Amino acid sequence: MKKNLLIKGTVASHGIVIGKALLVDHGSPDFSHYRLSTDRELKHEVERFQKAVNQSKSQLVKAKKEGKGKKIKEAQFIIDTHILILQDKILLDNTIKTIKKKKFDAAWALKTTTKYLKKNISEIDDEYLQERTSDIDFIEKRILRNLAGKKTVQLSNIGEKVIIVAKDLSPADTVHLNVDEVQGFITECGGKTSHTAIIARALKIPSVVGLPDITRKVKNGDIIIVDGNQGVVIISPDAETHLKYKHKKDQHEEFEQRLFRYKELSSESVDGFKINLLANIEIVEEVASVLDYGVEGIGLFRTEFLYLNKKELPTEDGLFDIFKYVISKVAPYPVTIRTLDIGGDKFISHVNVAEEMNPVLGLRAIRFCLKEVQIFKTQLRAIFRASLYGRVKIMFPMISCVEEVFEIKKILQEVKRELRKEKKGFDPSVEIGIMVEVPAAAAVADVLAREVDFFSIGTNDLIQYTLAIDRVNEQVSYLYEPLHPAVLRLVKNIIDSAHNNGIPVAMCGEMAGEPLYIPILLGFGIDELSMNPIAVLEVKRILRVLNYKHCKEMAEKLSLFSTSDEIRNILTKESRKIFFDKLQQQI
Ligand code: PEP
Ligand code: MG
Repeated sequence: MKKNLLIKGTVASHGIVIGKALLVDHGSPDFSHYRLSTDRELKHEVERFQKAVNQSKSQLVKAKKEGKGKKIKEAQFIIDTHILILQDKILLDNTIKTIKKKKFDAAWALKTTTKYLKKNISEIDDEYLQERTSDIDFIEKRILRNLAGKKTVQLSNIGEKVIIVAKDLSPADTVHLNVDEVQGFITECGGKTSHTAIIARALKIPSVVGLPDITRKVKNGDIIIVDGNQGVVIISPDAETHLKYKHKKDQHEEFEQRLFRYKELSSESVDGFKINLLANIEIVEEVASVLDYGVEGIGLFRTEFLYLNKKELPTEDGLFDIFKYVISKVAPYPVTIRTLDIGGDKFISHVNVAEEMNPVLGLRAIRFCLKEVQIFKTQLRAIFRASLYGRVKIMFPMISCVEEVFEIKKILQEVKRELRKEKKGFDPSVEIGIMVEVPAAAAVADVLAREVDFFSIGTNDLIQYTLAIDRVNEQVSYLYEPLHPAVLRLVKNIIDSAHNNGIPVAMCGEMAGEPLYIPILLGFGIDELSMNPIAVLEVKRILRVLNYKHCKEMAEKLSLFSTSDEIRNILTKESRKIFFDKLQQQI
């Protein structure tokens, strides 16, 4: 057996685990397909199919009931989705029709229907939606197993510590999962937003997904290393690799454990300068776990994912339910909802938009919303109605001039007027802010600051537009430089303009969660940082050893340099001098 076989995949959930592999084959049983001949056979086959569907439904309802009260709430939602698929008219009617008309046996008819459904979904150019075909796969396999009279393996009581290796795992598989036994997941399917990844994160179990052919490369009982930090799996490590990873794992766990000490501590510098630390979320399911990191709210809720994964545009009531859930879950902390940032590299199929040569410079974000006012208003109405359930702020993306803010304000007035007329309640004091992510907005930040309640700096786009580099083009990614003097000048100007006009400034681009940049952002006087929740405790740890006055002096000095290399070198050196020793002592 080959030692140290390393396979690269996608990081789904952080952490390192070393353990014994348990292959979970929740695949479909093998069937030989056959045609039916008599009416009696047809009737029997339809009944067999209906019985397998009913059995599948009872199993899922039971799984949901048994999972109630457990911490995996996400799984409960997903099981509900699976139950809905089991009741889907197209799935049921088409399969029965295929049995009756084509005289296929039940398994064959079901596979024909699901193939048709999956093909339709996979033609939609949307990564999230494509991952949802796995829901249909789970249902298909479950019905097929019931048709074959096969039992579904339960992961509730394995009897020993294992790492699950599977093609994919369904929420019904994971709902009973005992975290004392299951120490990690690795799967062939899935990406960052796959259900497996969502649940692994919610459970805080190390996980790597998207591992090609992993179920054929690993055998039951193999020792495997799952490095959820790097997104790699090592099969049958030799003694040296085993020891190396054991050491890495101990270090990582000790570090994480110690970081949790910071959860309840205030996010302030040694001389009392407070920066609020908040979380960015993309999918609703993340809300439940972000609060575990001691965040003081959601600083960026990217709402476009609510539109990308739907067959139709979401309704006002549908959006209201989601916003209400998130806002009440996070209360009393605030939730900053960013209105639809569609266009650029994200499109929705329900609205016809002319093809653009440069979509990133085209009808994106607020430009799209100001053109498709009805879509915009529906979202605003839902946010306002949900504002009664906690604290919400509304943030508009890609603003490039003050006229856009004037237009937005007019629409906001209309929406409020209409809601009042319909006697629908809302909080009239909802704060309104803009993302500053276009250089033009950064240059006229003083003008914009007079019109809104807060700014949030979107460094991902601000850097893209300032340095003229496509943020998704790997060929120019080497030019992506947060420490470019032009970027730093703009950031400083945005912060100063906001403060001169008495409004706070947040930062919600990736730069906000990067330890090296914290001293300079503190020195510039940023009020709030919003980031991937996993980064929050580490940022807080750094912040707590920094001195605002020193950082202010350093930031002023750094602003005078002309190259990013110089700035980076000085920042690294100064940072070491200022806080490295203290950090070493602290953790
Ligand atoms: C940004 O541009 O920095 C930002 C936070 O928004 P997005 O990454 O969604 O464009
Ligand atoms: Mg942006």
